[in-house]
Amino acid sequence: MAQKPVIGLLGGGQLGLMLCEAAGPLGTVEIAVLDAEDCPAKHAARKNGLHVTGSFKDPAKIKELAARCDVLTVEIEHVDTEILEEIATKGVEVDGKMKKVPVHPSWKTIRLIQDKYQQKEYFGQKGIPIAEQMAIKSGSERKASLHEVGQKFGFPFMLKGSKGSYDGRGNFKIRTAQDFDSVAEQMGDQPLYAEKWVTFDMELAVMVVRVEDDDGKLNRVLPYPVVETVHEDSICTKVFFPPRNTAVTEEIKIQAQKVACDVVASLWGRGVFAVEMFLKDGQILVNEVAPRPHNSGHYTIEAVHQMSQYKAQLVSILNKVPKNLDLSPTVSSAIMLNILGGAEPTSHDRLANLAEELTSKYMHVFLHQYGKESKPGRKIGHITATGSSSIGQLEERARPLITCVDEIRA
Ligand code: ATP
Ligand code: MG
Ligand code: MG
Repeated sequence: MAQKPVIGLLGGGQLGLMLCEAAGPLGTVEIAVLDAEDCPAKHAARKNGLHVTGSFKDPAKIKELAARCDVLTVEIEHVDTEILEEIATKGVEVDGKMKKVPVHPSWKTIRLIQDKYQQKEYFGQKGIPIAEQMAIKSGSERKASLHEVGQKFGFPFMLKGSKGSYDGRGNFKIRTAQDFDSVAEQMGDQPLYAEKWVTFDMELAVMVVRVEDDDGKLNRVLPYPVVETVHEDSICTKVFFPPRNTAVTEEIKIQAQKVACDVVASLWGRGVFAVEMFLKDGQILVNEVAPRPHNSGHYTIEAVHQMSQYKAQLVSILNKVPKNLDLSPTVSSAIMLNILGGAEPTSHDRLANLAEELTSKYMHVFLHQYGKESKPGRKIGHITATGSSSIGQLEERARPLITCVDEIRA
């Protein structure tokens, strides 16, 4: 039997866990995970003797991983792209020889996306619609810079950390000029930028698969269906397929998929990408991109039988995307609910019973627990409900689950 290709994965959280779950049944690929011994992904990964124990931020460990892999990928964008560039362009030493290991998506894409301000400057230059933004000066010039933004954008506006943020943790809504005093306290001295406040009607997201030929030429971009995402306190809590509001017409859905494809086509390398968008008065603005499987694509595990976002990530980076891949949903409606840790470590236990009780021929309920320690507000699992009814009916049937996850989080 031919040797299976080995994918090296930086980071072993829940996205890595679901990537390993997708790889298992394929039997055609091995995944080597770099993260702590007891990380979620290693619970689902095959015991292939290829995993590396350590931090995915440690250059020496990344090289150790690369040495045993055919391709590297990430489950998180906050990684050292200098090392990834070195591995892809100069290589790592294996048995006294240098071996180049491709990185997908490209380290160039990851580097651009890491800086949310630069990411959107780039999209803006490519003619992709984004909210107006301004870089904030640092040090003693910061206050004056904030005043300048206040004058230009008005209040409120959104202040964001350029790097390292996720789940809204780098965001600060500036309501008045009085808030400027607490900026240092809230955000420290990290690089910041400001975005005009978007009074969006709704948030949408599209997952896109990027297919690239062996010579690095873009072959095609394939979008999954458009979903509605709901964020509470800047963290994604719910995803609805299709969007609930009938104001999201077929034209808007096609437009959202087109914008998402344009965004992903402008980047480099293979993989799946999430494009988060705002919808306002029928217009789309791109909020940000994630160069990996994403929360807004969890629903594809149960709602797109031909290929989940995780399997798509695998076949894409191995350049094995089927010619006639069909990413249409195989259910009429789906709802994904994030389980965020509650006040008690056991707060979410009752969800398992509820998920079982509510499963019927009208609504299938799938519970995913990541095996992470529960902490208030931490993403520890998710539930997907699918139906053959309208999204409105499914939402009614799923109401007890929605109430339950909301209560746990509160
Ligand atoms: P993620 O976990 O998705 O990476 P993040 O920390 O990068 O999150 P953003 O995506 O920038 O944060 O913002 C989180 C949420 O905050 C958005 O989904 C949206 O609900 C709200 N938000 C962000 N930017 C704006 C804006 N300019 N105007 C209004 N609301 C915004
Ligand atoms: Mg983000
Ligand atoms: Mg976001």
